[in-house]
Amino acid sequence: MVCIKCKRNLPEEMFRIRKDRGTRGTKCIDCQREYGKNWNHQHPELCAQYSKKWRENNPEKKAECWKNWAENNPRKHKEWKNRNAKTESGKLIRARIRHKRRTIFKEVENTLTLQEWLEILQEQNNKCAICGVEFTDKIQPQKDHKIPLTENGPFTKKNIQALCKKCNIFKDATPEQRRKNKIKYSD
Ligand SMILES: [Zn+2]
Ligand SMILES: [Zn+2]
Repeated sequence: MVCIKCKRNLPEEMFRIRKDRGTRGTKCIDCQREYGKNWNHQHPELCAQYSKKWRENNPEKKAECWKNWAENNPRKHKEWKNRNAKTESGKLIRARIRHKRRTIFKEVENTLTLQEWLEILQEQNNKCAICGVEFTDKIQPQKDHKIPLTENGPFTKKNIQALCKKCNIFKDATPEQRRKNKIKYSD
């Protein structure tokens, strides 16, 4: 078969079977790929939309692609991980993974989304639920389980509250310790 684009004479397997017609396409795989790349370049938003839809419809394939990519590009994967670790959605993904790991044999809900986490922060006026300190770059909010993990508390909007690091550590502390902890912020 001869490709209409690059005019190369290639074996049949180099031409994809078109789903709509059931016959092989007129462009070879290489030319088709090139065409696809250009198209994506010219329509970045549509392209993002389509890939998002595809990922939603094919979660297992997505996970597999992703795994393959990570294995083949260890350096890029590491770069991506470092970059992503600093974003809110990256932190949330890792929090979900951590939660899952710690509850591996239990059927515990694990659904908190970034949107929901932002809602929690908004509902708390961006302040710690215990001591009321305002969250800033220096005082980052932490996701605390109201019903603890050890009692099968789920990782959901209902069971997560935002605490400052100190309150999260001292949550089970005595009132005396907690008072000390608060004073530290006001001076
Ligand atoms: Zn070609
Ligand atoms: Zn606090």
